[in-house]
Amino acid sequence: MAGQLSGQPIIILDKDKTRTQGKEALGFNITAAKAIADAVRTTLGPKGMDKMLVNPVGDMVITNDGATILQEMDIKHPAAKMMVEIARTQEDKAGDGTTSAVVLAGELLNKAKTLVEQNVHPTSITRGYSLASVKALEILEDMAIDASDDVLENVARTALTGKSADLALDPLVQLCVKTAQSIKDGGRVNVKENINIIHQRGGSIKDTKFVHGVVIDKARAHKNMPKKVENARIAVLDTGIEVEKTQITSKVQITSPELLKEARLEETKLVDEKVEALLKSGANVIFTEKGIDDIGMHCLAKRGVFAVRRCKDEEIKKIVKATGARVVSVLDGVEEEDLGRADIVEERGVGNYKMVYIEGCENPKAVSILIYSGAEHVADEIERALDDALRVVGDVIEDGKIVAGGGAPEVELAIKLRKYATTLSGREQLAVMAYADALEEIPKSIAENAGLDAIDTLVDLRNMHSKGISTAGLNVFTGKAEDMLKLGVIEPLRVKTQIIKSATDAASMIMRIDDILMAKETGMMDVNPEHTADYYDGIQAPPIEED
Ligand code: ADP
Ligand code: MG
Repeated sequence: MAGQLSGQPIIILDKDKTRTQGKEALGFNITAAKAIADAVRTTLGPKGMDKMLVNPVGDMVITNDGATILQEMDIKHPAAKMMVEIARTQEDKAGDGTTSAVVLAGELLNKAKTLVEQNVHPTSITRGYSLASVKALEILEDMAIDASDDVLENVARTALTGKSADLALDPLVQLCVKTAQSIKDGGRVNVKENINIIHQRGGSIKDTKFVHGVVIDKARAHKNMPKKVENARIAVLDTGIEVEKTQITSKVQITSPELLKEARLEETKLVDEKVEALLKSGANVIFTEKGIDDIGMHCLAKRGVFAVRRCKDEEIKKIVKATGARVVSVLDGVEEEDLGRADIVEERGVGNYKMVYIEGCENPKAVSILIYSGAEHVADEIERALDDALRVVGDVIEDGKIVAGGGAPEVELAIKLRKYATTLSGREQLAVMAYADALEEIPKSIAENAGLDAIDTLVDLRNMHSKGISTAGLNVFTGKAEDMLKLGVIEPLRVKTQIIKSATDAASMIMRIDDILMAKETGMMDVNPEHTADYYDGIQAPPIEED
């Protein structure tokens, strides 16, 4: 029987694939995931440091934001990529807490590795972790405090502390609260959809301001056009206002100066008629994605129309959303109902720093934040910090629940999970204990990054919690364990629950893998030469912008 089945060895795997199995596979994955967690750990908390990331062409990003660091790191290892995914999920669902989620996942895996070395099977660990996370979510819900609008500033301050936004903390805190509140709509705060963040070169971070409307980083097309139009009726076009070029190649022979003049007049007349038809709709402001030539500008300026040409696609989208305009492709096809409305359209600024403000839009939820900064990478980092702060304020407006920050919830969870573990038996108990230890990595890292002793801090915190002060966290500025609620260090409940969910999911997924099959990396030389970007429809070289 055996003889019949034996014979040639069967090759199931491509020789170019490498295979790693069992504990070795788990070890590989955990090491990679841990390396990722270690890379972002030093940025955690108000005293965390920033990272400078430089890409192959020399562009630089300086950031403290977990999700951005991981995105810029260009990570190759598959398990490490899962950690990047956690940061992205955390960012999507809660807007903040990305570093904490990655640090927690890394530590959950680290603790799991020790358990596996003690011969606890990975499935027992994942079961234990899953029990621990369900319990942790319950405890967090119990710990949560109902919040009203007066805590919003502190929520924003906690998110902004320790970032470059520290340069103008108070004005930025107020700005975030005001902006988030202004877009509240039926109990929801949609930061991504409604808030436009624009960078204005020059000035200082302190000048960063709120604009009730949309700001477009462009100047009006011609200086003879009005600088300001009140009660604006806005036409948005994806066609140019210019002398039309003939479709076929044709030659017009001009033999005298009179004929030349006549030809010019004829061209002007054609454009003029089109502008006339367009303005019949009642439009007094025009935004177009395409060009406006000299004749077009002349025709518009003499009728007192405000026009902006060569708007980017995303600018057009913002204008459409804010003003209720409809994009039209033919000049004489614009009807009154295609027009958008705003109280004021105005060009402001001097020299090269002119921008067009569209204020009092039909959609009152369209608002902008104008970041003033001398350096683009500073503005970028402020934008990321503001985005976090706007999202956490939004979370609290939406859910009305907060918890203390500064490591307080993590210490409290650890204590309660250890108690809960005693109700479980065997291996799951070990896993829940490990989960509790992993949570304490958050206050430990905040302390370490502030130059404090992690163990001393943890002992202080545990002491206060055992005395019943469940909101005791680390005041990084004094180095002491203090009541975070009194200090105003508070965070949305949603950030903390999402950290638990994202970190547990990722750690469990990585732990369930016991076999890695990796294909050999193919260099660009192996790619079919036809499969280049140019080969695909829709991916074309960007058009050259004429002025
Ligand atoms: P994340 O990406 O996880 O939000 P951060 O670098 O923003 O990382 O750090 C967040 C942690 O820092 C949270 O645990 C938060 O409670 C804590 N934190 C924020 N402000 C303070 C403060 N003033 N004192 C102590 N801890 C703080
Ligand atoms: Mg944060």
